[in-house]
Amino acid sequence: MRKKQFKAESKKLLDLMINSIYTHKEIFLRELISNASDALDKLYFRSLTDDTVQLNREDFYIRITPDKENRTLTISDNGIGMTAEALENNLGVIAKSGSQAFKTENEKNDDVEIIGQFGVGFYSAFMVSKKVRVISRAFGTDEANCWEADGVDGYVIYPTEKETAGTDIILSISDNTEEVSYDEFLDTYRLSALVKKYSNYIRYPIKMEVESSKPVEGKEGEYETVTEDRTLNSMLPLWKKNKSEITPEEYAAFYKEVFYDYEDPLRVIHSKTEGQATYNALMFIPAHTPFDYYTKEYEKGLQLYSKGVLITEKCADLLPDYFNFVRGLVDSEDLSLNISREMLQHDHQLKLIAKTIEKKIKSELSRMLTTEREKYETFFAAFGNSLKFGVYSDYGMHKEELQDLLMFKSSNEEKYVTLAEYEERMKSDQKSIYYASGESIEKIKMLPQAQAAVEKGFEVLYLTEYVDEFAVKTLMQFNEKAFVNVCSAEADFDSEEDKEKLAQENASNEALFAFMKEVLGDKVKTVRFTHKLKQHPVCLSSEGMVSADMERVLSSMPGNEGVKAEYALEINETHPIAQKLKALFESDKDMLTKYTKLLYDQARLIGGMTIEDPTEFAVLICDLM
Ligand code: ADP
Repeated sequence: MRKKQFKAESKKLLDLMINSIYTHKEIFLRELISNASDALDKLYFRSLTDDTVQLNREDFYIRITPDKENRTLTISDNGIGMTAEALENNLGVIAKSGSQAFKTENEKNDDVEIIGQFGVGFYSAFMVSKKVRVISRAFGTDEANCWEADGVDGYVIYPTEKETAGTDIILSISDNTEEVSYDEFLDTYRLSALVKKYSNYIRYPIKMEVESSKPVEGKEGEYETVTEDRTLNSMLPLWKKNKSEITPEEYAAFYKEVFYDYEDPLRVIHSKTEGQATYNALMFIPAHTPFDYYTKEYEKGLQLYSKGVLITEKCADLLPDYFNFVRGLVDSEDLSLNISREMLQHDHQLKLIAKTIEKKIKSELSRMLTTEREKYETFFAAFGNSLKFGVYSDYGMHKEELQDLLMFKSSNEEKYVTLAEYEERMKSDQKSIYYASGESIEKIKMLPQAQAAVEKGFEVLYLTEYVDEFAVKTLMQFNEKAFVNVCSAEADFDSEEDKEKLAQENASNEALFAFMKEVLGDKVKTVRFTHKLKQHPVCLSSEGMVSADMERVLSSMPGNEGVKAEYALEINETHPIAQKLKALFESDKDMLTKYTKLLYDQARLIGGMTIEDPTEFAVLICDLM
């Protein structure tokens, strides 16, 4: 029999299949099962109007038969089948548009990544087979034909026998090579796992004979091997059921099984969307941070299904980074499993879906914040940093969308507050939102500036997470109320009259401050009196963009060692030390030098920083003693 040649594009694709990288090989089963399911669909729909179809809905099936001895794997269906002509047309060449899309995609990035992501249909059989036979009998005919090919060389079609309509795809599984073992595709355990993974929600039963050992009745300790016919897939996807028919327990069980969590999800988001993009989404917000959440290993993404068939386990494009904690899946009718539809369109659909999903997650979080406060706080404790990170990444592009979801602990009972709640509680003459940052609430509460602000009756946000201040700096303001660090010069709680008095006092002591600044050199930008400290003698206030805490965070990251905060050394004008300094300036400059150094070190200690030269500090103290 003369072999017919594959069309040029088909040959190219076939070549690629045969040489595909190993990790993608397993998807051949998904592809062949999907084809079988399509063939069943066609006959089933015909049965609705055609009396000659003697089958009922439950008679349709797909069967997988591994044969280790002959090294074959057969995928059968009792669907519509193919005539000789159809075999020629369908399997001899892949659709033009498909190969076109495939070529352009491949020229672009010269890799075969798309194989794993999007089906390439029937030819994927060659990823695991040295020979493929397709024995098919079209419904309504008595002839059967076999299409056979053993690689890129070509194929033959010849008449054969088959008792009923439908198709058997018989794969002669490749021989093991040094690197690759193909045996797994003959192993019932592995095959059922693959069906579960990719084809669990195919609407027809996928059957296989499975051997298992069972205890022999009446004979203790004895086992026998029994063969049973098993349906491997569960068929009805949970997300396709009506919401009203699904119990919270069912959702939770599904979540835990599919996403390997031991705890129920905090919230379930189940939505059906129709319109520009038609899809079902079933998403979950976990109740705790996954153990690998802060590692490089953690990958965001949703499972992507096309008509119930898994396309990819983690589609990262479906989630923005700041919602990376969401687990779940999207099932869309619009996505084609086959690349024979334009890839571009595919991309466009995916983007549309991603956009609506993002909106949906955001509105669900908002609702949770207003209606289930306690749960939201649990959520925020686990994943709030992602939202804050979202505010400050991409140059603040998403800050408006995310700011209402933020919470910070505050001086008000040290509980979480939203920015809106803070604003609502602001004093009538208060113009700014005050915050203080530090490693922990305990440390922040020791800051004299924070104490002063709280004593004046202002609520102060306690920023303890490393991203907090960066997020706040990116926000800049909330409803036109600027964020102000209580340790910055901008935080001024004095009355106008008081400010005036302080300005005068500062002006008349300029010489003293100049002397002290001279002693401290680059360590401070300026020295001045302040009224914001109650019992504390001194403090360091940051001047400019970088606060003390930001310096701490930044300098711990590689490449940022040079980032320095700029400080003003502020001396409590109402503290006896102020008078002492003035007197020393007149009488004893040496002693003033020592006092200056000591006060600077004290200010660092009070601000939660370390002192630069502990030995000098100790010597100075002893001197004075
Ligand atoms: P696609 O399924 O995207 O069209 P494939 O290369 O997988 O591309 O299959 C080509 C065609 O071969 C199918 O469109 C279908 O008409 C036919 N076909 C494949 N498998 C079967 C089957 N099991 N039964 C009937 N027809 C089939």
